[in-house]
Amino acid sequence: MTSEQTDGLPTVKLRPGKGRRLASGAPWVFQDEIALDRRTRALAPGTLAILVDGDQALGVAAINPESRISARLLDRSPEAIIDGAWFRTRLQHALTARERLFDAPFYRLVHAEGDGLPAIVVDRFGDVAVVQPNAAWADRLEAEIVDAVADVTGCSAIVVNGMSRARRQEGLTEEIRVVRGTVDAPVPVIMNDATYMADVLGGQKTGLFYDQRPNHAFVRGIAADASVLDVFSHVGGFGLAALAGGARRVEAVDSSATALALANEGAARMGVGDRFETHRADAFDALREREGEPHDIVVCDPPAFAPSRNTLNAGLRAYERVARLAAARVSEGGILVLCSCSHAATSEAFHRACVDGIRRAGRRAALIYSGRAGPDHPVHSGLPETAYLKALAFRLVDDRIP
Ligand code: SAH
Repeated sequence: MTSEQTDGLPTVKLRPGKGRRLASGAPWVFQDEIALDRRTRALAPGTLAILVDGDQALGVAAINPESRISARLLDRSPEAIIDGAWFRTRLQHALTARERLFDAPFYRLVHAEGDGLPAIVVDRFGDVAVVQPNAAWADRLEAEIVDAVADVTGCSAIVVNGMSRARRQEGLTEEIRVVRGTVDAPVPVIMNDATYMADVLGGQKTGLFYDQRPNHAFVRGIAADASVLDVFSHVGGFGLAALAGGARRVEAVDSSATALALANEGAARMGVGDRFETHRADAFDALREREGEPHDIVVCDPPAFAPSRNTLNAGLRAYERVARLAAARVSEGGILVLCSCSHAATSEAFHRACVDGIRRAGRRAALIYSGRAGPDHPVHSGLPETAYLKALAFRLVDDRIP
């Protein structure tokens, strides 16, 4: 984009008195905070504009008048030009931060607002980068973003994954495309000494859940000699970490045959296939089957049951049900790890649902660990509610203990 174009950016006004949240650090403007006159309503989703509060220009924002988040602030300078150089600068910051955290190039490189690139997610798998443009503005500037990712990381292959719920909400197309180079999938990824096969061309997220890395590490650390049940395992996130930590036996349950095949491949590469077993089933059905010995460690990491506020109550009931069914499968003194990646469920509400479920199973529990997403998932200070991931580990004890 040239500077003439920037001079020509439309202006979008906040409604009177609606600038406080932005001034205190939030990067979003909601639909009721923006002056939706006819001209603003006519702007195509993803249009860049100068955001104005009274006579003060607040910066350059991406506008989507039809979305609940009607403006996302991209740069607090109204003179900013959102071009390749702008993307390269933001990406370089993100890269420098990751290189400090990890000694191998396998991580979430860009975590949207947390890295100053609203609604953009980039996961890196060595020489392959998977880009998710999760809002209209990022979709429009996809070519610039892809070029900048290639320049800054040196990745030889780039995949654009457009399969997110956020894109659906913004009315964008859902598809996965290799836009640079060729991809030899699945890509092996080493985390916590386990080998995961990341299906970077598959539909589920970008292929791997990097966010659980510190929580996998916790389970790895307590797994020596344990028998482990990993429910909602995907490609073996917790289960293979437990095997890396010396687990005696791991059973992984998931409804996806593809995910379980990749989990088996990871276990084989680790040379622990003889201690690993997969079971394709609905998790609720599998938990209800009470066959076999209870496990020393049971992990449940379901998909988001409460992705939005209107699903919150039903979601919390589902978490409670998982906790109740799973608690019944844990041995005395054993450990139950329960996770939620639901934005709408607060830590407190999720904790409550877990404790209620465990109690309804007739068990008592003490919380021994509380985890969140890893440091490659920075949380924007103005959006504390976007800290979505919760992982709680409970020790289940004799129910006579008060
Ligand atoms: N635990 C994984 C991530 C889990 S993602 C990790 O640490 O990397 C959630 C998984 O739940 C997906 O693999 C999905 O296939 C599976 N899933 C969703 N609904 C399910 C159901 N009803 N029963 C079993 N698995 C389910």
